Amino acid sequence: MTVFCLVELDGAAGEGRAVGGADVSLRAITLARELAGSSASSSFAPASAAASGTVGGLAAVVFGGLSADDLGLEVGSGLVAELAAYGVTDVYAVSGIDGYAPLAWARVLQWLLSESGNPGLHPASDELPHLVPHSSPDDSGRASQDQSAPRAPGISAHAVVAAGTERGNEVLAHLGAITDLPMAANCTQAVDNGGGAYAIVRQRWAGLLLEEAVLEAPVALLTVATDVVSPVPAETAAAVTVHEVAPSVDGSDLAVCAVETAVGAGGESLATARVVVGGGRGVGSADGFAPLEELAELLGGVVGVSRVVTSEGWRPHTQQVGQTGTKITPDLYLACGISGAIQHIAGCSGAKNIIAINTDPAAPMMTRADYAVIGNLHEVVPALVTALRERVDPMSRRQPG
Ligand SMILES: Cc1cc2nc3c(=O)[nH]c(=O)nc-3n(C[C@H](O)[C@H](O)[C@H](O)COP(=O)(O)OP(=O)(O)OC[C@H]3O[C@@H](n4cnc5c(N)ncnc54)[C@H](O)[C@@H]3O)c2cc1C
Repeated sequence: MTVFCLVELDGAAGEGRAVGGADVSLRAITLARELAGSSASSSFAPASAAASGTVGGLAAVVFGGLSADDLGLEVGSGLVAELAAYGVTDVYAVSGIDGYAPLAWARVLQWLLSESGNPGLHPASDELPHLVPHSSPDDSGRASQDQSAPRAPGISAHAVVAAGTERGNEVLAHLGAITDLPMAANCTQAVDNGGGAYAIVRQRWAGLLLEEAVLEAPVALLTVATDVVSPVPAETAAAVTVHEVAPSVDGSDLAVCAVETAVGAGGESLATARVVVGGGRGVGSADGFAPLEELAELLGGVVGVSRVVTSEGWRPHTQQVGQTGTKITPDLYLACGISGAIQHIAGCSGAKNIIAINTDPAAPMMTRADYAVIGNLHEVVPALVTALRERVDPMSRRQPG
């Protein structure tokens, strides 16, 4: 038995900076590892697994055509080392699919499931004409790399786990649709009770309600709430085998694919950014976001907004934080001119620290915040920008002439 985990990346191939697992995916891996561990101790698990108390296997699936450098194979640090620290035993590095393509990604997961010999999964691998795996070129020096044709581990998969992001939910929904397997979104706990029954706790109503349920399935498809499970490395790092997977994907599976990725300063996405500078109706206009953009850039973060802002057309929906937007888990969320409606809080409650700037001391966001600045954001934000600029470049304090 093994658990596959779709891993989203912090960074991308060829950007000239280290690629790591996105924070939301490290959280998903943590839940996946616990699920695999519960399987090992389940009374339905093989006696050897139960006796050793070890997990059957925890396999990470990464897309993006990552090179050995991106994976950190040569240096023993980087993505593969990070995944090993989280207990991952196998890494499937998928290349040949440019950018995000939800159905194609789901086909690859389906292929991995069927190759891992799960008897309950259909259609079988020989009914998957779209995927023709082939072996990777021989790269000397990659000690941990599987040079043979990619083979999933010779153990049955019993779950596929992904972060409860737009991508994670979309890919697993596709996987559920093409395999007829049920999917549970936004889980906070999952235990294998054996016999194809999984006890789960999952968020409903944007996290306002926690539902306890039993998922009955030969293979459980689960996404993990992005703001509840903490990312915790394994007690002991695992020995990892890296498998290269280069599927041949049918054009129809690429009918929906991302052709452009909108990223902020530093290449961060809203879902994975460590700093988010949020703006609400109080910003007043599309032009009013310029100082917030500047502040986000200085802090190495991105801009997020409330729904009012997207409804007004000041910023795109991709930047919306909340129940019907993106859930964020930054170290710092700076909420400027945002009242803190429950639908907005549903998206930012996973922030480690919240600073609110608002003229209204009674605004709900002010009571939720760790630090509150009662004031006009049009004065406070430029003052912050000036102070940060002076820190970065003390010469900027000098007056011209
Ligand atoms: C089904 C549903 C789903 C929704 N999903 C979302 C969602 O995903 N995300 C989301 O954000 N909302 C969502 N909403 C909308 C939500 O209910 C609120 O209407 C919205 O979040 C309010 O946005 P706001 O805080 O920018 O505006 P307001 O509530 O109008 O608050 C503006 C704030 O700015 C302050 N302010 C004004 N001027 C200044 C100034 N110069 N300096 C400092 N502070 C100032 C005010 O005191 C006030 O607190 C949803 C609603 C529904 C019904």
